[in-house]
Amino acid sequence: MTRKNLVLEGIPASPGIVLGRAKVLAEKVEAQPYYCLLYSPEEINDEMGRFLKAVEQAEADLIVLKESLSPEYQEHAHLLDLQILVLKERMIFQETQRLIREERYNAEWALFQAWQKVRELFKGIGDPYIKGRIQDVEEVYRRLQSILAGKEALSLSSQEPVVIVARDLSPAEATQMTSSQVLGFITERGGRTSHTAIIAQSLEIPAVVGVDFATREIATGDALILDGLTGRIILEPDEELSHSYRARKEEFEVFKGEVAQSSSLPATTMDEYPTQILANIELPEEVELGLKYGADGVGLYRTEFLYLRQRHLPTEEELFQDYRRVVEAMQPKVVTIRTLDIGGDKFLSALEYAPEMNPALGLRAIRFCLKEVNIFRTQLKAILRASAHGRVRVMFPLISSVREIKDARQLLEGVKQDLEREGLPFDPRMPVGAMIEVPAAVTLAHLLAQHADFFSIGTNDLIQYALAIDRVNKQVADMYQPLHPAVMLMIREVVHAARVARIPVAMCGEMAGDPLYIPVLLGLGVAELSMNAVAIPMAKHIIRMITIEEARKIARHALRLVTVEEVNDYVDQEINRRFPEIFRFGRTMAANHAI
Ligand code: PEP
Ligand code: MG
Repeated sequence: MTRKNLVLEGIPASPGIVLGRAKVLAEKVEAQPYYCLLYSPEEINDEMGRFLKAVEQAEADLIVLKESLSPEYQEHAHLLDLQILVLKERMIFQETQRLIREERYNAEWALFQAWQKVRELFKGIGDPYIKGRIQDVEEVYRRLQSILAGKEALSLSSQEPVVIVARDLSPAEATQMTSSQVLGFITERGGRTSHTAIIAQSLEIPAVVGVDFATREIATGDALILDGLTGRIILEPDEELSHSYRARKEEFEVFKGEVAQSSSLPATTMDEYPTQILANIELPEEVELGLKYGADGVGLYRTEFLYLRQRHLPTEEELFQDYRRVVEAMQPKVVTIRTLDIGGDKFLSALEYAPEMNPALGLRAIRFCLKEVNIFRTQLKAILRASAHGRVRVMFPLISSVREIKDARQLLEGVKQDLEREGLPFDPRMPVGAMIEVPAAVTLAHLLAQHADFFSIGTNDLIQYALAIDRVNKQVADMYQPLHPAVMLMIREVVHAARVARIPVAMCGEMAGDPLYIPVLLGLGVAELSMNAVAIPMAKHIIRMITIEEARKIARHALRLVTVEEVNDYVDQEINRRFPEIFRFGRTMAANHAI
């Protein structure tokens, strides 16, 4: 059977086109755990010693790995830190020891049983943060099993640059790649929001994930084309195809260069209408990326990570140091700190909560904070303290009533008084915003505006709740439609309420960073957009190519259409007609990091 021009389809995970040869990473030989019972106390002691030594070695290996990261990849060191923490996680570390001691299992089997329990616990959780954490635990589990079996860790080093093909790549493995060694990568597993895909984007290495049977279909040495814009892999391409892809690659590079030029320029339309393009960040390390891509500030600092990446609740001082770092790095630009959006399936390991039937509708975000007021106060105090070091705004997630924002503000006022008593500096006029992510908040926007200094529309959740589409459920992903007439009308209503109350309105859901939607959003009156940092150059490029009048015309027409299909067709046509280059490359670039 000829494999010439054989096409494999996957999910585009990081943009770019690569023509090169494959290096298939041998299936990680799974170190098989075996079952064996220990009889004497000496055997139990020896086994315990073997396990503890394996943990020690794994820790040492991870530290070496971390130290060998070149400076440009240092921002990913936290993933290795996370794995070092997982090594000592109670559910793996202590449970394995307990099983050796009490059940008299050998180390491999005890570790396997502990890992199975963790897996059971995490089953069915769809949240990307948690998913990332399972991957980390799994990698730690594999690393320990390999050490116990006396196997070497996987090595990615290779003489000539290659396209790595693997069943799966962990975030830690991805951080070992450098673009001089690795042209791109293809994996069978993984999704758009997996840590590995996010790392590929920030390393700017083209990648396609979720390619079924990649390691079976592709052999080391095969020539291939990897199209990280469409998610297509072409094996053994003929000269004609190679030629056309080389041309497409060149065009893409030129396009990327042009787009990049926009990143340091102001986000002003052709008719001088000013807009603001800001970055969404999850970790302090990401500030650098925001600055590199020309962010006008941080429009959404998701603060859950510091709570999720350690076992104890972070202290006020730890939070303060994290926030201060971001605020000082962004000076004099604004940093919008979103208070803890935890609960549901983004749980805190330091707290015990009963499992919920519908986590998205459960004790989440501001509801959680208003119940756990001590946790909330600690965070508010850290945010206020950071406000003494630059321009800080705070915003509350998932507001669904006036009561909630009033209660949250009251707590904030109390914390201000505490700080005054303690003589600690803060900005007394720090703006307070409400995130609009629940349909009730849209309906009440005119009332909420009386208690908020700004609005930020969180479309990831607003669309989920307005259209009743679980944002992490693959089965209904095609129904997740940002241009649904109901969503557009909601955005219009929020903008209207904000205008009447003379407060600014921003958007920080993924919709805000998609080139296809930006003209509609501007036309609807949202002039502050916050997005994944890598999407910023393209967003600025588009804004600099249109007039506010054009954008308003597009929005007006879109609002008159009745079905989402009509709106999509209309917007596709308009954008394609006015900005064909966006459709050629930009659309897929943005889709790469859509939720
Ligand atoms: C949103 O819901 O759009 C949002 C920005 O918040 P998150 O994605 O963190 O829920
Ligand atoms: Mg949200």
